Amino acid sequence: MLKDDCIFCKIIKGEIPSQKVYEDGKMLVFKDIEPKAKVHLLAVAKTHFKLLSEMNGGDAELLKYMLCKIPGIAAENGCNNGYRLIINQGADAGQTVFHLHIHILGGETLPW
Ligand code: AMP
Ligand code: ZN
Repeated sequence: MLKDDCIFCKIIKGEIPSQKVYEDGKMLVFKDIEPKAKVHLLAVAKTHFKLLSEMNGGDAELLKYMLCKIPGIAAENGCNNGYRLIINQGADAGQTVFHLHIHILGGETLPW
């Protein structure tokens, strides 16, 4: 389920430190190490999916679960006036970590 050479799997296992803001049995949310907005969180599933395109219909239940949890987590972390969710898929989108993650950006008026 988790991959030994994946940085986000290592964060999930506690092998690399992170600033966790939410955790349950299925997902972890932590602060991005290079924030692109006043609030920049990353939500990851506790299962290793490389890309959005790797998910099948059953896996997508996990995404649905995460999307339903995110509004509460965002509100508790200073995104009271809105936020933006981003999933980068592959090279053209600039994906650098190949463990599916949802960026949560907010805490200020976003420039675009
Ligand atoms: P992406 O370009 O969508 O693959 O985004 C990867 C994100 O992971 C970037 O915004 C990085 O700043 C962030 N990141 C990389 N390593 C870490 C880490 N150890 N802890 C927290 N965030 C990280
Ligand atoms: Zn992983």
